[in-house]
Amino acid sequence: MRKKIAAANWKMNLTLQEGDQLITEIIKLAKPLATHQLAVFAVPYPYLSAIKVHTATTSQFLLAAQNCAQQQAGAYTGEVSAAMLHSLGIPYVLIGHSERRAYQNETNEILAQKINIALANNLLPIFCCGEPLTIREQATQNEYVAQQLQDSLFHLAASQLLQVAIAYEPIWAIGTGLTATSEQAQQMHAHIRQTLATKYGLEVANSISILYGGSVKASNAAELFEQPDVDGGLVGGASLQ
Ligand code: PEP
Repeated sequence: MRKKIAAANWKMNLTLQEGDQLITEIIKLAKPLATHQLAVFAVPYPYLSAIKVHTATTSQFLLAAQNCAQQQAGAYTGEVSAAMLHSLGIPYVLIGHSERRAYQNETNEILAQKINIALANNLLPIFCCGEPLTIREQATQNEYVAQQLQDSLFHLAASQLLQVAIAYEPIWAIGTGLTATSEQAQQMHAHIRQTLATKYGLEVANSISILYGGSVKASNAAELFEQPDVDGGLVGGASLQ
């Protein structure tokens, strides 16, 4: 069965004390998860070790970094490498969040390098993709997202792709309060799965978790997550509560 993942993206929010309190409350309130269900917290780099102490008691609460460098090591001041994250015991890393694509000029090609370096260092990438509003208005979102997958993932062997989860995050829905309808989310997730199946076969495509992100909150999560090709969510703003 595919993994169902509820992933929180704290972005550049919260002090360590606030983050500490939030994770403590979440772990206290959380209901037991089934073996195929995971909660993943993408917290700021400096908090990874401290927050990890809280999640150490359960195998179903796991941490992610929000990014990693595309290089293995070297003179890259301010960067954090995949090897460093692995050495901290961090299992997941977000790759290609739209905010990094937009503000740090991360191209599909750079993201392909980041995927490689993450996998080479035994990190599990959550690869973010999704179209801007102009593309949605032109109704070319299927081609746009397929190109992102092709450019950043399709050089991988099937065994490598099986380590990757995908987060479909339409840019027009991130932090805007606009959410894709459950039909729009399902349509794109089915398209992503079909695109993966064309390249890797149905069995591989059916094993990949595809998360939805874009203004997910308590009031709309259930309907989105009920869709057959939606395997959970990547949640920004609402994950701070
Ligand atoms: C995100 O950061 O990946 C995200 C989807 O943010 P939000 O839930 O705030 O739209």
